[in-house]
Amino acid sequence: MTVSEDLFARSAKVIPGGVNSPVRAFNSVGGTPAFMVEAQGPYLTDADGRSYVDLVCSWGPALLGHKHPGVIEAVHAAVEHGLSFGASTVAETELAELVVDRINAAIPGAIDQIRMVSTGTEATMTAIRLARGYTGRDKIIKFAGCYHGHVDALLSEAGSGVATLSLPGSAGVTAATAAETIVLPYNDEDAVRAAFAAHPGEIAAIITEAAPCNMGVVPPAPGFNKFLSQVTKENGALFIFDEVLTGFRVSSAGYWGFAAPEGGNWVPDLFTFGKVIGGGMPMAALGGKRQVMEYLAPTGPVYQAGTLSGNPIAMAAGLATLKAADASVYRAIDQRSAQLQAELKSAFDAAGVDHSIQTAGNLFSVAFGTSQAGVHNYADIKASQTFRYNAFFHSMLNSGVYLPPSAFEAWFLSASHDDAAMDLIFSALPDAAQAAAAATA
Ligand SMILES: *Cc1c(COP(=O)(O)O)cnc(C)c1O
Repeated sequence: MTVSEDLFARSAKVIPGGVNSPVRAFNSVGGTPAFMVEAQGPYLTDADGRSYVDLVCSWGPALLGHKHPGVIEAVHAAVEHGLSFGASTVAETELAELVVDRINAAIPGAIDQIRMVSTGTEATMTAIRLARGYTGRDKIIKFAGCYHGHVDALLSEAGSGVATLSLPGSAGVTAATAAETIVLPYNDEDAVRAAFAAHPGEIAAIITEAAPCNMGVVPPAPGFNKFLSQVTKENGALFIFDEVLTGFRVSSAGYWGFAAPEGGNWVPDLFTFGKVIGGGMPMAALGGKRQVMEYLAPTGPVYQAGTLSGNPIAMAAGLATLKAADASVYRAIDQRSAQLQAELKSAFDAAGVDHSIQTAGNLFSVAFGTSQAGVHNYADIKASQTFRYNAFFHSMLNSGVYLPPSAFEAWFLSASHDDAAMDLIFSALPDAAQAAAAATA
């Protein structure tokens, strides 16, 4: 028995499934999850002393690489002043200013205010409550395969762990709540128009991932986000742009940094942020125009609160991360991503594995058996040959490369992935591609 197997057996007794978030389990790929003891730059070390090149990066936050000296120093300095005050601190204002500046750098005046929370789930939950309070309407449109955290109203046909475990949604969500959520196929403008026509004056908001990355990566068709912005405006609904995963990861202004110039002249009503914004600490946020944001308590009637919201240690980690994430960081990650995609393609082509690689900026994922039909929505991804991913995943893991343990997740690089780390990944690819080729359903 490995140390990880031993630790997993112990955790499974006192923690459901042995994990505190289902995506960490190896349910779909099989095997026992490695327990980690250390992270440094692009590497993870497990409880058995094995080292891995990390392509999960804590599911996004480790943009600069693990244990970035500037971030660790800022956290140490903040800890010296106390862990939590339950009162306002200047770091919250500084981080809010920095986020507003970054978003407005893409289109001036796009947002005025942000509210800090502790998880992406709280950010999207608050955004839909705010949209309902602001519009006085109840229904929400979401897209199949998009994941917005484990909010009751947003779990229908959700991506990420819900997709990995092949669940239609979640038990425990009331029929009344589920009935307020309209689930539509992604990239389908006609379906969106039809939903507004069928429910006039009832739809409070459309929520979408800026570029879906929780069913694997499925980029928006050109103009799709702009269409969503326009159709919500025409129908008196709000447009919620979920950048919890893409925000500050794919560019200094997140996916918004690409989407804004596309067609120009449109702005989401609300943004949600998470993952990178907290630099590895529990921290997330929502933001928008003052007119909408001031509907939140204490200025407005929509209640929202959090004992640890704006926690000073999380603020320090987030501020240090965003301050260090300059243009050179994004350039480096873009370049590593392009390099890895090219190496993947050669390895799969050499092994004769039919595949396609979907990208959203520097984020990408691989779908097997999809080169003919392409990947435009959740149905396309579900029809892909995910059994090949499981074989590929285990071969890479054996060679010391830690991939997301599901075909329905994006791959994450960091600015610390240097030549040595990339070479380790590249040398693992030919065997893993052979394993994918040999896999059977
Ligand atoms: C991760 C994620 C969330 C949920 O964030 P948590 O911090 O895990 O609650 C919401 N939306 C998207 C797009 C995400 O990727």
